[in-house]
Amino acid sequence: MSDNLDDLYRDILMEHYRFPRGHHHLEHEDIHNEGQNPTCGDEIELALELEGDRVKDVYVSCMGCAVSVASGSMLAEVTKGKTLEEVKKIAATIKAMLTGEAVPKDADLGDLEALSGVKKFPVRVKCALLSWTTLVNALEAREKGKEKAPSTTEQ
Ligand code: ZN
Repeated sequence: MSDNLDDLYRDILMEHYRFPRGHHHLEHEDIHNEGQNPTCGDEIELALELEGDRVKDVYVSCMGCAVSVASGSMLAEVTKGKTLEEVKKIAATIKAMLTGEAVPKDADLGDLEALSGVKKFPVRVKCALLSWTTLVNALEAREKGKEKAPSTTEQ
């Protein structure tokens, strides 16, 4: 049973690796960030186009191992159409799943569940988290920028 699950997870990862989603440039980028995982040599560039607080489109370009590319591809697939709050929740869930913390039972991860097999290989956890960490850092930087904005208008 668990072997079959491993096979299924590997198939999902390889499918994303071969046909990465989000590999198209956006007309307009509201959020842009780059990230590296020197341990493995993975490099990622990602961008979001927003419509209000919702992700309208996603660009992901990842050069690296199968795990980092597949994870980036899943990020592009899963975050499209979500609100930024939902995106942050998913990112936190992925991180919990990969670092062995409790994952909320109602979490619907779809293909991302396939990344759970990676936690057996600690070296690969960074590869799987690279795209998510890069995205969360960009979102946090954007929020900090937002916090500053009201104080500047107060003057
Ligand atoms: Zn890697």
